[in-house]
Amino acid sequence: MTDEITLTIDQQSVTVPAGTTILKAAERLGISIPTICYHEACSSNALCRICVVEVEGARTLIPSCVAAVSEGMQVTTNNERVALSRRTILEMLTSAVDLSESPEIQQMMLEYAADADRFPDAERRDPPVYDDNPMYIRDYAKCILCWRCVQVCADDAQYTYAINFSERGYHTQIGTFFDKPMPETTCVFCGQCVGVCPTGALKSKREWLMEHGYTPDEVMDMTRTERRRRRREQSAAPANGGQNDPA
Ligand code: SF4
Repeated sequence: MTDEITLTIDQQSVTVPAGTTILKAAERLGISIPTICYHEACSSNALCRICVVEVEGARTLIPSCVAAVSEGMQVTTNNERVALSRRTILEMLTSAVDLSESPEIQQMMLEYAADADRFPDAERRDPPVYDDNPMYIRDYAKCILCWRCVQVCADDAQYTYAINFSERGYHTQIGTFFDKPMPETTCVFCGQCVGVCPTGALKSKREWLMEHGYTPDEVMDMTRTERRRRRREQSAAPANGGQNDPA
């Protein structure tokens, strides 16, 4: 196997180490391919398919985040077929999920002239917000199932395995085992899942409470862990248990 591969991307020649993905080879040429589920810190899984490109001789469009380059490959990163595919993916996403806090995806929708009303009868994903811990909320109405949170919770970073896919097909969503509240799982509240979530489906509880109109004092109070709450109550209590309290 040769160590270096030469290929053509958008009619420009580039030489990269064997094993490089098309996405990374394109980056070398300054060509930006749109991505959604892809994240530098996570393993690529080609789930969203927004990064598809056309490879000469291939029957289907190829997800560039996982496909490795090969010698003499000829890649087109954007043409009518690719744009139609990306537009359709965006239209399906927006028909089912709340993308109001996904600025990058909204920008893509403008770029690909995606019609937000293309599938008016699509069932919207609208589960209730999970508010079961002091650190973060889970609003799966905004979840695009990119899998980043599951990956950083597992082998890509934390090795905690508190969350995974649950259910199947249209009802697939991210959840805890047996739908347990987060404090009853292996979650260590590291916050890495919140950090990689591209849509606001996972959000710091303080940020979420501020957005919902709570005062900073209320926010601090509502996000104290039980242990801190108990400590605070103990330190506020009179040393003699209040026995001589005239009130
Ligand atoms: S919660 Fe966020 S990071 Fe996790 S799968 Fe959904 S969109 Fe992706």
